Amino acid sequence: MTKYDLIIIGAGPAAYTASIYASRYKLRHIVVGEKLGGLAIETDKICNFPSEEEISGINLIKKMEKQVKNLKINILNSKIIDIKETEDGFYSTTENEEKINSKTVLLATGTKSRKLEINDENKFIGRGISYCATCDALFYQNKNVAVIGGSDSAQVASLYLSKIAKRVYQIYRKDKLRGDPTWIEQIKKNKKIDVIYNNNVQKLMGDKTLDGIILERPYQGNKSLEIDGLFVKIGSTPNGLLPNKLKLDQDKQGYINVDNSQQTSLRRVWAAGDVTTASNKFKQIITACSEGAIAAESIFNFIQKNQ
Ligand code: NDP
Repeated sequence: MTKYDLIIIGAGPAAYTASIYASRYKLRHIVVGEKLGGLAIETDKICNFPSEEEISGINLIKKMEKQVKNLKINILNSKIIDIKETEDGFYSTTENEEKINSKTVLLATGTKSRKLEINDENKFIGRGISYCATCDALFYQNKNVAVIGGSDSAQVASLYLSKIAKRVYQIYRKDKLRGDPTWIEQIKKNKKIDVIYNNNVQKLMGDKTLDGIILERPYQGNKSLEIDGLFVKIGSTPNGLLPNKLKLDQDKQGYINVDNSQQTSLRRVWAAGDVTTASNKFKQIITACSEGAIAAESIFNFIQKNQ
């Protein structure tokens, strides 16, 4: 069995950047990711990644993936479901029972969309409830939709949906949207978007498919809102499976604590990207890339010292 210097778990910006650096450092490594790009692919417009004035998340990630593939790095599209420490490394097990042996591990496992945790939410997933506007907007051509949330993901989703849907209601629990002022300015100027402040969804309506929601407080005199689609964009939570299996130090919300070199509390294990507490918890593609680069350099130094 091949023994890799490094297994990179994840297939988002942190993972691909780490792989590019690891290739330069001649680290024998493999990238194993369940879902191309992680949450970054859900953004239709990225305007703050240097050298790309405007690009969609999926296209940016595809470029990163292409760069890694051109370096002849093995990318395995699978989920790691178990990881066990050995005397001098780790055995990672994929969902297809493949075992991967490596001296070190980089977790770049990202986050998953936060759910509303409201009655019938699961019942309506794929039947009116979505967590990804770029994936599902086309189902709502000329229909009324709502977006929940008041930060960048919600703003970007509302702006994208406004090009396709008839009307977009953005429901936010506070009185002032937060995040990137450029998105907020565009939301305010957009005649197809109504922002409903100081409000929340109380109840989902519909038989087999969603056809409306009940708000906590009346909007224009009415608590019910007829919509065909509800996009939940209320942030994300870290993927905890592998950090828990490895018993890594995490903060209260489950983000992995790392030091300046992206090293976790466990020897031979590093973490990078949205799953960590690093970069002041500023969850951006550029900070994920940076963390991936730092981790790769630190792993290179470790391997050199411990040959
Ligand atoms: P955030 O954590 O920034 O925001 C989550 C939003 O959802 C907040 O407005 C929050 O309210 C609200 N919320 C959370 N829980 C609930 C709930 N249970 N019910 C109702 N509302 C709730 O997450 P985002 O995904 O928006 O952004 C994450 C990171 O990704 C940020 O760093 C952002 O800059 C980045 N990003 C950048 C994009 C771009 O530039 N193209 C696009 C998307 C994301 P409250 O404000 O009260 O906390």
